Amino acid sequence: MGELIPFQPSPQFKPKARFTCYHSQIYANQQRRVLECAHCKAVIDPFDYFWDIANKTVKLKSDCKFYYDRKLALIEHVAKLKKEKQYLENWLRKNNQLQKSLV
Ligand SMILES: [Zn+2]
Repeated sequence: MGELIPFQPSPQFKPKARFTCYHSQIYANQQRRVLECAHCKAVIDPFDYFWDIANKTVKLKSDCKFYYDRKLALIEHVAKLKKEKQYLENWLRKNNQLQKSLV
């Protein structure tokens, strides 16, 4: 069994061949020992296919971190807005009481 190593895509590397089709369903044909498109039966280069999956996985992981950090920032921002709203409501209440006492 091979050793697992962390995947670090290189932006300089470009697969030599593109997929021969752009359908999304790929399956492994065990008899022919190739990857094939489920729709048009095009033979897909396995390295390109797995390279594409690996890059999408890295991008997905990066996107998840971005959105998680964004969510935390928004939660913090909402908490600040709630405090500001409370402060303004208190200020208005005090101001209204002061106005009534002057009339
Ligand atoms: Zn296809």
